[in-house]
Amino acid sequence: MHILTTPIAYLKGVGPKRAEVLQSELNIKTFEDLINYYPFRYVDKSKIYKINQINSNISYLQLAGKVTNIEEIGIKKNKRLIANLKDDTGTIELIWFKGIKWIKNNLKINENYLIFGKPSLFNGKINIIHPEVEKIEKNKLNEKNIKLQPIYPSSEKLSSKGLNNKSIGKLTKELIPKLKNQIQETLSDEIIKKSNLISREKALLTIHFPENSNELEKAIYRLKFEELFFIQIELIQMKLVRQTKIKGHDFSIIGKNFNDFYKNNLPFSLTNAQKNVLREIRKDCNGNYQMNRLLQGDVGSGKTLVALMSILMALDNGFQACLMAPTEILAYQHFETICNLLKSMNINTNILTGSTKSKNRKELYEKLLNGETNILIGTHALIEDKVKFKNLGLVIIDEQHRFGVAQRAKMWKKNIIPPHILVMTATPIPRTLAMTLYGDLDISVIDELPPGRKEIKTFWKTDKNRLSVFEFISKEIKKDKQVYIVYPLIEESQKLDYKDLMDGYESICRAFPKSQVSILHGKMKSDAKDFEMNRFINKETQIMVATTVIEVGVNVPNASIMVIESAERFGLSQLHQLRGRVGRGADQSYCIMMSGNKISEDGKKRLQTMVASNDGFEISEADLKLRGAGDLMGTQQSGALNLKISDLVKDNNILKYARHIATELLEEDPNLGKEKNRKILDFITNKKKNKIEWSRIS
Ligand code: ADP
Ligand code: MG
Repeated sequence: MHILTTPIAYLKGVGPKRAEVLQSELNIKTFEDLINYYPFRYVDKSKIYKINQINSNISYLQLAGKVTNIEEIGIKKNKRLIANLKDDTGTIELIWFKGIKWIKNNLKINENYLIFGKPSLFNGKINIIHPEVEKIEKNKLNEKNIKLQPIYPSSEKLSSKGLNNKSIGKLTKELIPKLKNQIQETLSDEIIKKSNLISREKALLTIHFPENSNELEKAIYRLKFEELFFIQIELIQMKLVRQTKIKGHDFSIIGKNFNDFYKNNLPFSLTNAQKNVLREIRKDCNGNYQMNRLLQGDVGSGKTLVALMSILMALDNGFQACLMAPTEILAYQHFETICNLLKSMNINTNILTGSTKSKNRKELYEKLLNGETNILIGTHALIEDKVKFKNLGLVIIDEQHRFGVAQRAKMWKKNIIPPHILVMTATPIPRTLAMTLYGDLDISVIDELPPGRKEIKTFWKTDKNRLSVFEFISKEIKKDKQVYIVYPLIEESQKLDYKDLMDGYESICRAFPKSQVSILHGKMKSDAKDFEMNRFINKETQIMVATTVIEVGVNVPNASIMVIESAERFGLSQLHQLRGRVGRGADQSYCIMMSGNKISEDGKKRLQTMVASNDGFEISEADLKLRGAGDLMGTQQSGALNLKISDLVKDNNILKYARHIATELLEEDPNLGKEKNRKILDFITNKKKNKIEWSRIS
């Protein structure tokens, strides 16, 4: 057994109980796992604060002073030990609730100590609870102390099992000396030299116990580079495999369906951006490799039409195609739009959702298998194994961020040669993220809105403006316009929000007695949803009160006002999506975000960003900064990334550089078969063995 794979229980100070906690809480099973558990920050132990400089905003700090008083107070559960520490600027209390006996025996009045801990507010006073205490030998603020102290991420559960930051530090201290000359290099000499990196061993030792901040910086850089580099290698290799090993279906005939549609049914001329994307798709589908393309286009940029015209290419070449949407409402809307656009053409379009009756389902399955159905539109229901096609050539996934990685991967298997895949999103993905998460995909962008659109005017209002907001709405309704009013719905508290929605609905009915009001929420049966949606589309109702079920895709060009209630509770991309429900016609549209008076700093920033910008890319960059990458991608996708040390926002430059180096390397040695790249190959092979499976992104 290699020392690195030694079970963590065998490390001095661990044992079976702690080993269990380390495994369940931190997934640390071996020595190697512990070495890869990095401190998340460091405290400069060369700096000593004065007591009068302390405030509760400083997290960890170090003090030097004399203990002037030690006192045990309270009984039983309330028992605690309080010591006063004094320097030349003041006195502060140090408090212990546990280990009192030991501290009492070791702490001496009138001795000088170095104190290290986190100031907190207790009983209205700033003090330090459970500090580390170190005796200062006479005249000797020794070198040993002038170092960066690692702080490890810990949790309440860990601390309660005796594994706080400090004890994790102790374990790494125990482990590190054992690992000298045991940590293998993962990069080639060439890359190390070219990129001016330190060795992996040096980096790992330094990240836990840096000698100084200069060394630490080099260690962090090396580990970040390595992390991002290997993700890029994996993504670029996946792309190479797809492009060289999987032969794609051939759509090179531009035939009757496409031409008929183009000549007779296309209601407007395509924008240049739409044309370009279609050209890119056509090139992808020429039979050389499988397309795996991400189409990004801001809300309202006309992605549906691009989807339909790609579908027609597939049909012209004898294939079936399907279009999958994240919600039933959206699936039905696509179904109607597409049936409408294909009117008078001889094409069979069907729909399949969770609420398709089993009798219809059976019929449909048959039609899919015998090829009678040309286009299938639907929801997640399309993914099910029972849904089998005669010859599926193209899969389009709308609003792809709503689908899990594994779900999308299943669509690959719907034909012997995987169908071409086009995923579409109106939630623009910042470049850094796109490079990382979607590095395997080719990316197209629609960067142009259809002509004649007016920029949506966005306002942020509070309750005291409600009257004037309502007056404004009335005026628009008089001009024959329609209005959405959206209430937040968050899953954990559905009951409460449902009440908000119903209260909202009633007050809207009262405030607009002359208008017809629709209501739409996730709990409604699908035919009821349809019914309400259609009333709104047909202008039978003027106001649509809804939850975020209308967030994605819904297209009613006559609606010109979007009111978002409790807007501070929505995320930026959601707000942008909701706003995108208006501004779809030629008239001036408005988005009015209502909020309470007291909202968080982040909430304020979100609303300010919305008022300031209409550009989805700008908004997604702001979102990334506010939330961090993991959150932005949702758990499923950030889980796939599992970054240990890099931050996609802050380490943008390292990421770009790592991608560059990875690309260069694979161009020269696609299979990493060259001797000089052996270490890289070994590492990847090992990693793959230990990993469940890096699922495909689409
Ligand atoms: P999204 O990209 O958000 O999915 P849609 O495909 O729903 O956008 O299109 C938004 C609206 O723009 C629809 O009403 C559609 O008919 C219209 N549209 C799409 N392409 C064009 C175009 N080239 N010229 C004019 N209107 C267009
Ligand atoms: Mg859409």
